[in-house]
Amino acid sequence: MEKYGQILLESFLGFSAYLYREVLHPHWTNFVYWLLALSLFCWSLEILFPWRKEQALFRQDFWLDAFYMVFNFFLFSLIGYNALSDVGVEAFRDLLATVGIRHLVIWDIADWPVWARLLTLFVVRDFVQWNIHRLLHRVGWLWQFHKVHHSVEEMGFAAHFRYHPMETVFYRTLEYIPLAMIGFGLTDFFIVHLFTLAIGHLNHTNVYLPLGRLTYLLANPQTHMWHHAKELPRPAHGVNFGLTLNLWDYLFGTGHFPKEDRQVTLGFDGVETFPRRFWSQLRYPFTKLRRWHQVAERQTIRVNGTTAGPDVYKPT
Ligand SMILES: [Zn+2]
Ligand SMILES: [Zn+2]
Repeated sequence: MEKYGQILLESFLGFSAYLYREVLHPHWTNFVYWLLALSLFCWSLEILFPWRKEQALFRQDFWLDAFYMVFNFFLFSLIGYNALSDVGVEAFRDLLATVGIRHLVIWDIADWPVWARLLTLFVVRDFVQWNIHRLLHRVGWLWQFHKVHHSVEEMGFAAHFRYHPMETVFYRTLEYIPLAMIGFGLTDFFIVHLFTLAIGHLNHTNVYLPLGRLTYLLANPQTHMWHHAKELPRPAHGVNFGLTLNLWDYLFGTGHFPKEDRQVTLGFDGVETFPRRFWSQLRYPFTKLRRWHQVAERQTIRVNGTTAGPDVYKPT
């Protein structure tokens, strides 16, 4: 226990020092300035070549999304996520050690050429993330968290940042094991992360970027728009889950790539009543889950001596 407390403290202090260094010392490997540069680049595209010309430069919820960037990328890690995830990783390693597993890497790509390492890491990670994204839509309680991202009604680059911080926990936890099985370096991860971040920004940018046949491979603002459509082109759980690649949607039949690009109404059923403020949006899924739990308890009935509850875990 003392060991975990020490890790918690060291991670917290380490991340604070890292943030301080990053802000004061611009450098090529400096995430803060890359993020700013990418954002300014995408915003310039919106200013110079807007797709929806009538949309204001400071569109609806622009500042809300800007705050999400600061919170999701820095504050959330600072106030505890970074430290807790370090403790989680250590506890997981200890757990594995108790069953005799000391080494998770089963596919060591450290000796491969740089391009092959980066490509492998990128493709594996994107496929894992595509599956996690589908889970966020299909599992009722996960959808309550993901709704925050889908509450965007006017699309712009900063909408990329609007997601519930718990999504970071879901993504990092679920992708940890598959990625830990590949032996890659931190620099590889940094480069792949930056590349996917850039494409993610572009996907939300108010710019027309027709890719022709490449659209079956790469996600872009036109295809991601359909992912955010209020009226889904196909019922059930949605289309175009690819974060960077459209390839998985194309291969597994969840893609929607119409020939004609047109703008669609964004959101989901009931978006009009979804909270508009940051803290209310953060609280929303927890409040909703608590309410479900209370309703389930109230409605629980005894049928022939067995307990049955209502089917309340439906995404709405
Ligand atoms: Zn989604
Ligand atoms: Zn999106």
